[in-house]
Amino acid sequence: MNRRELLKTAALLPWLSLTDVTHSLPSPRKRLTRIAYLGDTHLMPRRKPMKGLAQCLHHIQNQTDKPTLILNGGDSIMDSVSRNRRDTRRQWEAWQTVLRAECSLPVEHCLGNHDVWAHEESVNDPLAGKNWAQEQLLFSHRYRSFDRDGWHFIILDSIQPKKTGGWYSTHLDDEQLDWLQTDLKKTGTRTPILVLSHVPIISGRIGNELSGTDPSQWVIPDGAMHTDAPTLIKLFGQYPNLKTCLSGHRHVLDDVRYAGVHHLCNGAVSGNWWQSKTFRGTRRGYALLDLYDDGTTERTYVTY
Ligand SMILES: [Zn+2]
Repeated sequence: MNRRELLKTAALLPWLSLTDVTHSLPSPRKRLTRIAYLGDTHLMPRRKPMKGLAQCLHHIQNQTDKPTLILNGGDSIMDSVSRNRRDTRRQWEAWQTVLRAECSLPVEHCLGNHDVWAHEESVNDPLAGKNWAQEQLLFSHRYRSFDRDGWHFIILDSIQPKKTGGWYSTHLDDEQLDWLQTDLKKTGTRTPILVLSHVPIISGRIGNELSGTDPSQWVIPDGAMHTDAPTLIKLFGQYPNLKTCLSGHRHVLDDVRYAGVHHLCNGAVSGNWWQSKTFRGTRRGYALLDLYDDGTTERTYVTY
């Protein structure tokens, strides 16, 4: 029975006072803010991607119920892992050209695997690894947190370099995990918390690896989601006010509710890396997110 039905019923039951009825109902949640998520823009200095990102940014900013902040989930440029200095520079120049000309909303950026410069030319270069992306995306640290509109936002760095079997793995390094534990402790259990990571902490697009109810028994393929998901699930379980995790990386829309947390993977601005508009059933787009005072989130996926 919803609120309206209950009040209607109460009108037919004169011995039940209106105060009794309204006290037995949960108070309606209040929206504190609206934000936008965009990610996997995979920008290159070519007409289609530059025009596409500009269109997407206009679409966000022309919403009648306009978001106040954009979260960028990472993989901002097509790729700097395997590209030389010249190619990487041209991609970042394209990124700056579009962002400066087409975006007037504040943007908080998260690091993606393709934003890391790992080409052989980067050896001994001060811009190597995550440094070039940090300089271009203007963030103070690869992981960080901030407060805004009554919410606590945590931005994580999912990408850890490794020597064999692919060049990166997807988990938090020890230093970052220590920081996260401290940050959560400081935030406490009342302020609503949103976590943003490039790679999903949990994704529904994984096969039988997650069969079994005990997360410590999961076999998680590197790159598909956070391999330290069992640790993070346990940590987040101590904070009932942490109900929302956002991510990208997989270019698909995904909605998983697990252990009290809503894990939302939010498609890709580039769709199928600008080859076509749709990737595995998800059209290129971005997400609008309404954040409520009870820590819940409503997502609307918008194609542009
Ligand atoms: Zn990625």
